[in-house]
Amino acid sequence: MDIQYRLEQKRRILGDFPGPKSLELAARRAQAVASGVASTVPVYVADADGGIIHDVDGNSFIDFGSGIAVTTVGATDPAVVGAVKEQVEHFTHTCFMVSPYEGYVAVAEKLNQLTPGEHAKRTVLFNSGAEAVENAVKIARAATGRNAVVAFDHAYHGRTNLTMGLTAKAMPYKHGFGPFAPEVYRVPMSYPYREENPDITGKEAAERALLMIQKQIGADQVAAVIIEPVQGEGGFIVPAEGFLPRIAEFAKENGIVFIADEVQSGFARTGEWFAVQHEGVVPDLITTAKGIAGGMPLSAVTGRAELLDAVHAGGLGGTYGGNPVACAAALAAIETMDSQDLRGRARHIEAIVKERFARLQAELGEKSIIGDIRGRGAMLAIEFVKPGSAATSKEPDAEATKRIAAYCLAEGVIILTCGTYGNVIRLLPPLVIGDELLGDGLDVLEAAIRSVA
Ligand SMILES: *Cc1c(COP(=O)(O)O)cnc(C)c1O
Repeated sequence: MDIQYRLEQKRRILGDFPGPKSLELAARRAQAVASGVASTVPVYVADADGGIIHDVDGNSFIDFGSGIAVTTVGATDPAVVGAVKEQVEHFTHTCFMVSPYEGYVAVAEKLNQLTPGEHAKRTVLFNSGAEAVENAVKIARAATGRNAVVAFDHAYHGRTNLTMGLTAKAMPYKHGFGPFAPEVYRVPMSYPYREENPDITGKEAAERALLMIQKQIGADQVAAVIIEPVQGEGGFIVPAEGFLPRIAEFAKENGIVFIADEVQSGFARTGEWFAVQHEGVVPDLITTAKGIAGGMPLSAVTGRAELLDAVHAGGLGGTYGGNPVACAAALAAIETMDSQDLRGRARHIEAIVKERFARLQAELGEKSIIGDIRGRGAMLAIEFVKPGSAATSKEPDAEATKRIAAYCLAEGVIILTCGTYGNVIRLLPPLVIGDELLGDGLDVLEAAIRSVA
């Protein structure tokens, strides 16, 4: 990795925060912004680069969240910034459905090339992850002439009506927002840490889900099965080996469209371009967003040409989908991922983090609140349980998790939590973060865990 940082890569907290400027903005916000939008951090951003976020009062935070896995190449990757500036001076928008442009076509070509599988592919671009998921379902229904869609326990697919229906967790995502779209069915996930039978294989966990599909829906009624190959909001759950391949195989046998939702896990995050590649799974459709464009809003559905081309002309689109500035940013971000070997970088981060927390877990022993350490690449998580329950009931400890995240924030490290039980800390650093800054942030996290344990 050969990264020139614009901002000094150093954590620095000047005193109590939020400081006066952040407090002033918070007061304005309270009068202007809907209170249904919550923020993890109480300070307001002035600048961000590499693994650092500066607030308006001069504090510098280590960024272990990347704005939820978005700024994989950093918040101001020079290539992305240059491409955006260049594009913005020519045209900001024409609407691809009215007057098309090369950037959209080039992003589609790139995605067709990078996604797994040697078959003929097509891509269509949108703005958000939820919009990509909605359209993947539209495409699957149009191509199969079937209605039912199968999603999994702990799934997260977005906040629009259909994607809320696909999402598992009620609070805060669905509570009070129903009714949801019909013909969505939920089946059990493979969650190795919380299986009743700890010896269950991935294939057996898949058969458990497939039996429900056959008995409760009927395989011939199912248009699509949608799954995050590493679940995001649900707790960074990596299904047992063999689970994804068996689900994909079943889909193929039954004419069901297998959709991999790689909105969070895609684009070098897990150490491969896409998380399905860890098990050699080739999805029929793949949804991407978040890390795709260095922070610019862009999303995509990529997949088998015969599926995407089954939709009538004019059936897919949207005013802003594949915005030219976002497309320019995506081409630059993907180029940076490639030239800086950010997939290798993700694996490097994985090795550092897993080694360190496995050591801590062993040291703290049986009484440890560390239940599980898991993830792929730089999509890593620690699941916390009540003291003494790690070897027995594995009782989720959301309270301890909150305290650990709060401790980190107070010390200047931005950390996100997740999980159905709210007891998971997830690490999603920008892949361009340097070893020294990463180590400093992990020191803080380790101290936080020790203090709470
Ligand atoms: C974030 C996310 C979405 C929704 O993306 P938005 O851009 O917030 O609409 C969908 N699926 C997964 C797996 C996600 O992590």
